[in-house]
Formats: sequence, C-alpha cells, structure tokens
Amino acid sequence: MSVQEIEKRWQKRWFEERIFEAESGGKEKFFITVPYPYLNGNLHVGHTRTFVIGDVLARYNRMMGYNVLFPMAFHVTGTPLVGLSELIRNRDERTIKVYNDLHKIPKDILFDLNTPEKLVNYFKKESEIALSDMGCSIDWRRKFTTMDPPYKKFIRWQFGKLKSKGLIARGLHPVRWCPNCKNPVEDHDLLRGEGANILDYTLIKFSLDGYIIPCATLRPETVFGATNLWVNPAVTYLIAKIGEEEWMIGERAFEKLSHTDKHPEKIGEIEGRDLIGRYAKNPMNEEEVIVLPATFVDPTEGSGIVMSVPAHAPYDYLALRDLKEGRCDYDLTEEISDLILKIEPIKLIDLPGYGDFPALTVIDELKVKDQMDPKAEKATKIVYKREFHDGILNDVTRRYEGYKVSEVKEIITKEMLKEGKADIFHELSEPVTCRCGTECVVKLVEDQWFLTYSKKEWKDEVLDCLSSMKIIPEEYRKEFENKVDWLKDKACARRRGLGTRLPWDKDWLIESLADSTIYMAYYILSKYINEGRIKEEELDDQFFDYVLLGIGEQKSDLHKEIRNEFEYWYPVDLRSSGKDLVPNHLLFFLFHHVAIFPRRYWPRAIAVNGFVSLEGEKMSKSRGPLFTMREAIDEYGADVTRFYILGNSEHIQDADWRSSRVKDAKRALERFYGLAEDIIQRSKVSRESGKDLSRRDRWILHRMQVRIKEARAAMENIQTRRALQNAFYLILNDIKWYRKRGENPKVLLDVLDLWVRLLAPFIPHICEEIWSRMNGGPQNFISLARYPEVDEGKIDHSIEIEEDLLRDTIEDIREILAVTKIEPKKIVIYTAPEWKRDIYKTALKLKVKGALDMGSLMRTAIKDHANTRRISNFAKKMVREVELMGQAEVKILANSPVDEFETMKKAEDFISYEFGCEVSVFDAEFSKYDPAKKSDAAMPLRPAIYVE
Ligand SMILES: [Zn+2]
Repeated sequence: MSVQEIEKRWQKRWFEERIFEAESGGKEKFFITVPYPYLNGNLHVGHTRTFVIGDVLARYNRMMGYNVLFPMAFHVTGTPLVGLSELIRNRDERTIKVYNDLHKIPKDILFDLNTPEKLVNYFKKESEIALSDMGCSIDWRRKFTTMDPPYKKFIRWQFGKLKSKGLIARGLHPVRWCPNCKNPVEDHDLLRGEGANILDYTLIKFSLDGYIIPCATLRPETVFGATNLWVNPAVTYLIAKIGEEEWMIGERAFEKLSHTDKHPEKIGEIEGRDLIGRYAKNPMNEEEVIVLPATFVDPTEGSGIVMSVPAHAPYDYLALRDLKEGRCDYDLTEEISDLILKIEPIKLIDLPGYGDFPALTVIDELKVKDQMDPKAEKATKIVYKREFHDGILNDVTRRYEGYKVSEVKEIITKEMLKEGKADIFHELSEPVTCRCGTECVVKLVEDQWFLTYSKKEWKDEVLDCLSSMKIIPEEYRKEFENKVDWLKDKACARRRGLGTRLPWDKDWLIESLADSTIYMAYYILSKYINEGRIKEEELDDQFFDYVLLGIGEQKSDLHKEIRNEFEYWYPVDLRSSGKDLVPNHLLFFLFHHVAIFPRRYWPRAIAVNGFVSLEGEKMSKSRGPLFTMREAIDEYGADVTRFYILGNSEHIQDADWRSSRVKDAKRALERFYGLAEDIIQRSKVSRESGKDLSRRDRWILHRMQVRIKEARAAMENIQTRRALQNAFYLILNDIKWYRKRGENPKVLLDVLDLWVRLLAPFIPHICEEIWSRMNGGPQNFISLARYPEVDEGKIDHSIEIEEDLLRDTIEDIREILAVTKIEPKKIVIYTAPEWKRDIYKTALKLKVKGALDMGSLMRTAIKDHANTRRISNFAKKMVREVELMGQAEVKILANSPVDEFETMKKAEDFISYEFGCEVSVFDAEFSKYDPAKKSDAAMPLRPAIYVE
C-alpha cells in the first residue's frame, strides 16, 4: 500500500468515526485556533507550517487528556477576489498563467471562476480537501466564510457594540491608498510594502520672500538648531497655492498633498539652483538661514526641501562638511563660499557621552566618508535613537529647556500647529505597491470611519490583557507591547469589495481585517447554524448579546444551550499564527477581545512561528515560486511533509523547503515504519517474557523516560524541532544501540508503544497504522490514546552512566585504532582504581553543596588515603574537571552508584565481538597484565586502553 493510500484510509476512518468533532462538557477544554486562510489561491507549503503547528498542538493536547476544539473557516472579504474574478473574466494573460502554472488549476475550470462567488466556492472546497489530506484534526462542522449572511449579522452586532462604546469615529483620516484602484489598500492587497506604516511628519513652515518653504521632519524639536536649508540644485520645484499661502515644494510632494485636504493648485515653477544663497526665516526663532545645495536631498521625499541641523543630523553635518571642504562642484559665488565657512553647528540637545555634536561623534565612530556614504543612514538611526531616549533640550530651545526629547516632540508639534507654524504631512514608512502595480500614497479621506485604536484607555486594557497572557516565544512579548504603543487609529470601512455593510451607514463596507478579530467566538455558533438548528432570522442583536455576553433573557432552551457551549469553550486558549500577523491581525484580535468581552473571555496565549521558503526563495502567491500543499502531499505524502516542516525549524526561525532534504525525511520515515513492523513481527514469535528485565532492558526503558520528559517539555513550549529531535532521531539511535547489545522483543514492543504515541501528533497516519497492528485492529485510535507520561520508577541514572561508559570506551578504542591503524590482536581495558573514584565522587558531592575547592577536597581525601602527592595531583585535576560541569549533571553523577569494573567486565564478550579480538578488563589497581604501564592513566568513567 502506498503512503498516500494509508493516509487516505485513516483520514476516512477519522471522518467516519467523527473523532475530531468536539462537544462541550466533561473534560477540561482546550480551544486552539489558527488564522483562517484567505481564499485567493490554493494553499501552499508556506501555509502548511501554521496549520500543521496548530494541528500538532491540537493532537498533542487531545492526547494529554483535554477536550480539544480545533475549528477552521475561510476569509474572503475585501477586494482581492473581486479583482481576481475580473482578471479571469478578462482572460488577463499573467493571471491565467499564475493560476494555471503555480496554483495548478486546469484552464477549463479556471476560465469559469469569473465571479467572486465561484472563486470562493472553488477555493473553499480545495482548501478543505488540502487541509483534510494533510491530516489536520479539524472539526469541520463549524466552517464558514466571512461573506455568509449569518456571519455578516455577527459582524454587524460587533460593530454596533464598538460604536456604542465610542471606539469608532468618523472624520478626516489618513489611509494607504491606491490612486489607480481608488480604494484604500490593506496588507493582502499589496505586491510589496506589507506592514508599511503611515508616519506623521511635521511640516515646518520656513518663509522666503512671502513664499512658504515647508520642511518635513520627524524631529520637530531640532528646528531650534537649523543653520540652513538644503535644496537639490538639479530639481525643479513647483509653486503651489494652498489656501491663502504659496508653497515651494517638489513635484511628488505636490501629488501627495493633492490626496489630502490641502488641495494644492500649481501656479508656477522655480529651479532649485535659483534658491541657493537666498534666506529663509525660521518660524520658531525668527532667525534667517541661508539656502544651500545638497545632493542627498531626495525630491520625492517630504517636500523636497530639508532643514539642516548639523549638530544632530549626520546627513546635514556631512553635507556641510563636503561644502566647506570644497568636495562638491556647485559653482558657488565667493560670497556664499565665505558664508558657508562661517556656519557652525548649533547644539540644542545634551546627550551625555556624545560630545559637543552627537552627529559628529557618531560619524567619526562609524567612519562615514561623505553624504553619499551608505553608512550615513545607520549613523542617522543611531543618533535619532540615542537622543530620543536620553537627550535633554538645552537653553537654545528657550521655553522647552529641560524637557526630554521623548516627551517634548508632541508638545512642540501641537504648539506649532496651533500657531500656524507647521502642518502634518503623512508619508509611508516604506514604498507600497498595490496588486495592480501602482505606487500607493497616503490619502486623507474625509468622513472616513475608523477604529480609535490610539485611545489610551483602550491600549491600557490591551496591555493589561497581554501581561496576563502567555506569549511563545517569550521574546516576542516586547514586540507586542511596542506594537500596541505605536498602533494608531485605523480606517475600518471602505467603498468596494466583498464584506459586511456598516449597520448605521450602508454606503460603507467593513474592512477585511476589521471583520476578522473575534471570529473565534463565531465557531461556537456556526455549528448550530450549519446544522440548521438556528435560523438566520433569529440572529438579532439580542441573540448575540445573550449567547456571547450573557446579557438579557434566554429566548429558548436552544439559546441557553448555545450560551452554555460558549461559556464552556471560551476563552481561546491558544492562537497560533505566522509572525507576519503580529503587527496587524494579532493586535486587532487583542483590541477587539478586550473591547467586546469581559476579562474572563480574554485570550490566554499567542504563539508565533516563522515562514517557509522554497529552495531558499521567498514564496509568493502572485509571482511564484510556489509549491502547493496538494503537490507536496501527492509527491511525498502528508506525514513526510509534516515531519519535514516541523523538524526543520521552530518558533520564529524560518523553514526552508528543499526537495533533497525532504527526500531524506521520507527515507527516515520509511526506515521507521520498517523498524516498527520488524519489532511487531519479532515480538509475536519471541518466547521471552517482557517481565524479567535485564540491565540492557532497563537501560532502554530509562532512555525512553528521558526522551518523554524532553519531548513533553518541548511541546509545552511549542518547540517542534526539539520535540522531534527527541521523539524521533534520538530514540532511533537508542534503539539501534539496544538491538546491538541484545534485545528482548517484548521489551522492544513496549518501547514501540511509547514511541508511536510520542510521534502521533507529528505523523499521525503512519502512527495510526502501526498502532492498529500492535493493538489488533482499527477500533482504537492512537489519535485518542494518551500521550506517554514519565514513569519515575523506570528512571535509573546508574544504568545510563554505565552504558555510556561502555559506549564511550568503544568509541575511544575505535579512535585509537583509526589513528594507529593497528589490526588489534588483543585489547586491554583498565578501569579507574577505587581511590580515584572516591576523590572524584567527593568532588562531585562538594560541588552539589557549592563547596568545591582544592582545600576541602584534600581534607576529605587525605583522611582516607595515604599517598598525599599522587592524591594532590589527581585532586587538582578533578577540581578543574568537575568545576566545568553543569549542576544538573553533577547531581546525577554524585547520586548514582556505578560499578565501572563490573560493567566493563561483563561487556568483555561484546567488545570482543565488536573488534574481533581478545579483550580483557582489569581494575587498574589489580591488573595482572600491564606491559605498557597504561593502567596509571585510568580515570573515573574514562578507562585506560592498551592495544596489541
Ligand atoms: Zn491598485
């Protein structure tokens, strides 16, 4: 039977027996969710990671005895499906190629996917099949899409709640905007620039001969240190009428401002070089500053004209120095050149340890050459960060003297805005390109509905929620806190696409990330809706209030039942997701939960994982490369795919899908399967009992306990790689050794019993197959068996140390033979004498007590042994050696009695068989044969070896 056939068989059995359909009640519950997939393509191996991690955790917790709910649904709202169906309808060549070649959709089917609804239906079916074929233990009775009418009612209820709590507002609001599509863009509408933020620059209004020269800056406080302005002499600037003012700005700034409420009107042009040498007035201190040329000025950024603060901005310092030292070729008059030489930086921020001019200090530190040196960027970031956190304003800033930079920014900006000395200018933090290929801008939308995420009280509740949550990996907690701090108000409705209309303003559709924040709660209801037990008409606000919040009276027993089920499953115990969703979805997930639900229903944990690349390249649904889940399953099978992805990396590390290594994984699983079959067969014919345990048997049983302990600890921390390392590879090694030493098939069957259960969450199909053969039939599923527990009674460190002694000694002999190239006729092994073992043990015990030093060790040793000199030399060595060991290891060694001589003596035959020659073992003190005087070298756990 092929791997795929075995997998199909078990998937069918699981489905028929409905073992993953979770009902409330009874055992303690575990509610795990992963983000539902967006249905604009087939699932690929990149998705596999998040889904499979979710599934492994669901399976693990199920085997740990929890009642596990692992549901799934589909995300379809927004514009991507509308756009995609249009492209398919128009037979857009590139789209057809991408979906035919990469997503593997046959053309006849593809051409028919010409409406959003058909796309949803097609990808919904394909995704469900792919996830089932991957072995995901999902309760499919709860599936839905975000455009289902009942779901829309749930969203309308939620938005009504948010609005009544004052968390939704309307007004002029900046959004990321595609000028071609004439629509706000969200992360999944983009070709690049996902995660780009909208930055608020302060546009400081310098004035020159009646014109306004606006200079954009993120550091408005530095205006007090402006020594000059920079223009790019090669650029033509526009003169634009804005309200009553006339501004000089770059062309791109003009375009950007036209998407705001400024409505600029072009009335003229001026060459950058014609501004050089003229004077502009600083609005904050009325100082006149000269306009100078600089090549670093990017006409597409900000207004295209920059204020220069050389004391605190490395670029400004460098440009000024370049001018002074005549390194630029601008053809300046002698008068201007003289003036330039006189310009001195003006220090306005005190920063301890950074000298007179922090910009210069960092420039020197990084050895930045000039304004075109790429290191100037890094220098800028360093100065910005240091000054922001530790800088204090000095008397140059007049009434702001004594303020910290971090606290004064907002104050200065507010005052400048109030006095008409500045404006706000929105810029994207990085270039953003729409799916249609157009460069996006920031648009100020009038009457935009937005969520007021910037509200302090709302943020405080989210931080409160975070502080009581488990974040895995824990290092990501800071990341979450920072993201909460920085989160700004966010547009939550748009004009086009699929989705739910705002309940109070039907012209607007709720944006597609905003409708995906608390949908985990809907999984409880969707079962009743899908089963037809509750009708769409019943889903009014009173219904949601009652079942989700317990507000109001129950209208029927069914409503009470649903309420009970909700109370049983909620809150979400774990949300597991890719790290790309940290700055958006996962944040909104928290914000909306704290806004809607009482504290006891706030999420308990979030786990974050990295991506999967394909042969070292980033996968992309719209450009390739792409390897679909379907292809992976057809080629390698689900278990191999799962095993590879989970074992390749863990936490936020990225995994890389390399077919050569996937093939290695496939072979490893085939070996595992073969070994399991062999063990089962042998145990059937063996006459040995599994009761009379030899030392070797106790060794392998002990080793299994160690692996179980490690695998469980790894799983509790979602370290899939570490878990598989222990549950698969290390056990495989142990079994190899055990079989070499002589196996008891009955014991090996017990080991296999533990082994398959350890592996079942990772490679469930193959484990079900093995389990069914071990337990005489398919009626009892390993998916529902108990995960192995550590049996303390089977832990025996002495045996492990002794077996390690033997293994290490054989390794040492092998090395000696390899180095000396001797064909051995006789091997003699000398184990350490009693006095050495005594001192070693004493050293260990002292270390456990934290009292290990030469003095204490000697005092104890001299009492028992006479020869002080040899004791002293040896004791020195032991102090050094034991000092370096970890406390846990020392504890085990100190408390586990080991008989070195007996262990080695009993293994004489075994070693002899290994090397094909005679082997003798002696205690070094009583050796009858020691021609090379090797026995002196015998150390505790490190016998001396002599080869003839
Ligand atoms: Zn567009």
